[in-house]
Amino acid sequence: MSVENIYESALTRVKEIGHKAGISPEIINALCHPKSLMTASLPVRMDNGSTEFFTGYRCRYNTALGPTKGGIRYHPDVTREEVLALALWMTIKCAVVDLPYGGGKGGITVNPKALSAMELERLSRAYVRAMADFIGPEVDIPAPDVYTNARIMGWMLDEYESIKRVRAPGVITGKPISLGGSLGRDDATGRGAYLCIKELQRKNGWQPSDITVAVQGFGNGGYHAVRLLRNDGYNIVAVSDSKGAIYSAKGFDVQSLYEEKQRFNKLKAVYCNQSVCELVDHDVITNEDLLALEVDILIPAALEGVITKNNVHNIKARYIVEVANGPILAEVDDELFKRKVHVVPDVLANAGGVIVSYFEWVQNRQGYTWTLSEVHERLGEKMTRGFNEVWDLSKSEGISLRDAAYKLAFKRIGSAIEAHGTKEYFSS
Ligand code: NAD
Repeated sequence: MSVENIYESALTRVKEIGHKAGISPEIINALCHPKSLMTASLPVRMDNGSTEFFTGYRCRYNTALGPTKGGIRYHPDVTREEVLALALWMTIKCAVVDLPYGGGKGGITVNPKALSAMELERLSRAYVRAMADFIGPEVDIPAPDVYTNARIMGWMLDEYESIKRVRAPGVITGKPISLGGSLGRDDATGRGAYLCIKELQRKNGWQPSDITVAVQGFGNGGYHAVRLLRNDGYNIVAVSDSKGAIYSAKGFDVQSLYEEKQRFNKLKAVYCNQSVCELVDHDVITNEDLLALEVDILIPAALEGVITKNNVHNIKARYIVEVANGPILAEVDDELFKRKVHVVPDVLANAGGVIVSYFEWVQNRQGYTWTLSEVHERLGEKMTRGFNEVWDLSKSEGISLRDAAYKLAFKRIGSAIEAHGTKEYFSS
């Protein structure tokens, strides 16, 4: 799909769901207008002595509920429109799980795999130099996203603190533990999705070993979600990364796949016993084939716009749990709902990451650290409450989980927008 469409698709969904839910047009209009967007050219000295310029973005989409919060993506396909869409979804997500944050997002148009570690560090520092007056612990708080990680957040924090000449761990989350990161942030996104699936299991009386799962994308979000599911006995039958996908009806040992990928940077169907890995029977399929598998749960955990009107007729999964942001375009929402394909929407399913980012920020402000079990317990409470609020609303009104999540978010954001102003003076 064209990336220009992704923000349009995001706005279409906001307008359609807002209208169906009877939300005031003024609130919907406010959500269709990003507060501010910073675009910057980032000069980087390359290892061969030349200077290259990369384009970086940071959007602070909406601040009704608090400072903006959202990750930074490094990818060749990053555009202004993609950043806006991701920042809008962050605005909705923070409201769905009731965090005191607005939504933001950032990105750099770059293929990080083509840079050396030193070039990546210089690029990350250049981004912070450009954005230093646009972000801040009380203003806008970045975090990792696709192809960024704790190491990169550490460089960014270091650059920010050097520029501002203060200690400011709360300016960024998902950073290394030694710089004020939180225990439990590394697997929080996958764990949040796993907790949603455990709620589905409880409601549907599933036996985990009967449930088949396919995951597209084996990075931070996707890997941890299926690792936890596999530990509970779910059958993970298909896995993919940017290079392709593998399938086995018997299911994979997720940890072996992960270790093999770490060692050889390749997704290979193996079973590892300590350092000895044996090849497991499997089929090599494409990412498109993976989406069309007849599985109980499909987990898109890579990029947006992968389920569109061109391939929606191929979808056979009963449940789709959106770990990626925006994998399903608005144009197919109704068709999936009519076909009774239950979608746990991104703004709920992947909220575990921002929840633990919030916990990290709270710990930084308190100057006090929580244990891993405290983080897990609080994440469990927040995810389970968020899931059940959305579930109950969807059941009581006969609407999709996405419509219910958006409605809940619109109400929370709407009442904050109204409380900031004087709207009630004009109502009769
Ligand atoms: P990541 O960089 O850790 O992993 C991305 C994975 O996707 C990799 O396995 C990569 O090989 C794969 N991939 C890339 N292009 C692909 C393609 N065309 N087809 C199939 N696979 C492809 O990223 P991540 O942090 O896991 O993020 C994945 C998704 O989850 C994104 O949409 C991101 O916005 C969303 N998300 C992440 C977090 C977080 O905390 N990391 C939080 C919320 C949402």
